[in-house]
Amino acid sequence: MTGITRTRLDAWAARKIGACGANFSRAELDRYQLARLRETIGWARKNSPFYRDLLAGRAETDLASLADLSRFPFTAADDLRRHGLRFLCVSQSDVSRVVTLDSSGTTGPAKRLYFTAADQEATIDFFQAGMTNLAEPGDKVLILLPGERPGGVGDLLKIALERSGVKPVPHGVVADIPAALAAMAREQATCLVGVPAQVLALARWAESAGMSLPVKSVLLSTDHVPRIIIRELKRIWGCDVFEHYGMTELGLGGGTDCAAHAGYHLHEADFHFEIVDPLTGDPRPAGETGEVVVTTLARRGMPLIRYRTGDISRLLSGPCPCGSALRRLAPVTGRQDGLIALGEQGFFTLADLDEALYAVPGLIGFTAAVDNRRRATRLAIAASLAAAPGREHERELIAALETVPAIRAARQAGSLELTIAAERCRGGLEPSAAKRAIMELS
Ligand SMILES: [Zn+2]
Repeated sequence: MTGITRTRLDAWAARKIGACGANFSRAELDRYQLARLRETIGWARKNSPFYRDLLAGRAETDLASLADLSRFPFTAADDLRRHGLRFLCVSQSDVSRVVTLDSSGTTGPAKRLYFTAADQEATIDFFQAGMTNLAEPGDKVLILLPGERPGGVGDLLKIALERSGVKPVPHGVVADIPAALAAMAREQATCLVGVPAQVLALARWAESAGMSLPVKSVLLSTDHVPRIIIRELKRIWGCDVFEHYGMTELGLGGGTDCAAHAGYHLHEADFHFEIVDPLTGDPRPAGETGEVVVTTLARRGMPLIRYRTGDISRLLSGPCPCGSALRRLAPVTGRQDGLIALGEQGFFTLADLDEALYAVPGLIGFTAAVDNRRRATRLAIAASLAAAPGREHERELIAALETVPAIRAARQAGSLELTIAAERCRGGLEPSAAKRAIMELS
């Protein structure tokens, strides 16, 4: 007996798929998914000009089993940019929320997502189910996410918490560390929901200032959660740390881990997940790494069919210690488009830099920029520290970077130059810290 209670997402999924009681079998869930996939494909072919073209010559009746989905074409971020409104299955007057994703570094039209009121209600519903794992009536949750305006992610989470009898304290993305910590102390927030790098900046600042705060649990929401940040939050605050895997394309749905912290239980009542070979597109069996591909099961406004997320991960095989019947996704190890190539020495990602650099004590945050146009790659790191930087900090940062095998090998081969700049953090955080990427060095 592990003592770990089953994730509340099971009861939520059971209700959504119409199972009796809070339990369901894999076969029941698969049958539900197949029926919903057929419905989604039929709905999209009938109502969306984009899908009418894409799915010409195919029909929902071609789906005799879930495996048959692999014969249907993929969709990708580029399709969203190029076809925009042609994806829509409802009239524009039925759209209650448009989310524009700014695609930094790319030119041309932005990626836009359209949601109906019912689509947004589905988001509130699974936020409510997911949050019951970490907050209960009497808790106060500081929301450090963007979108405090009506219909934004922060707002939907606020509604979900209120429905559960938990007090939300909307704050928004952290721009000023001392101000956010003051809000936490004033409200005596017991739970935080935020972006990993931002929450770590708060914890390290609070630690260096000797502030004690009653944090019981933290939910980190992003495409990638560095393991080092989870360890540090647990060490500094003694809190439990949960992770939410989600993306705007899915109305912020995706997966949430349980008290066993053994992967993200996928929101399988709303989405069907596949793992495919990133190069050939062939299906990969459970346990093998590949690109995450998602199909929405209940979306009316803008359904996504076999949408390539660009996230690299794998499905975990075997049951979760919590006993859930929902499948689990391993933490995302990278982005298909976020690899920095170092020739023969391999590659590194922002995730590698996060794991390496956040291990440096007192690091509040950093930015990374790369110039990969010349023979030797240049990597420039700008670090902000809790204390005034000294020589030893530069050495520590370089030593940390060299724990990344490709970086170490490339430095030894003379094909990588490092530039390190460090300064004392004055309390400000770049607003862009919520959406991080390795920038291009000009
Ligand atoms: Zn579990």
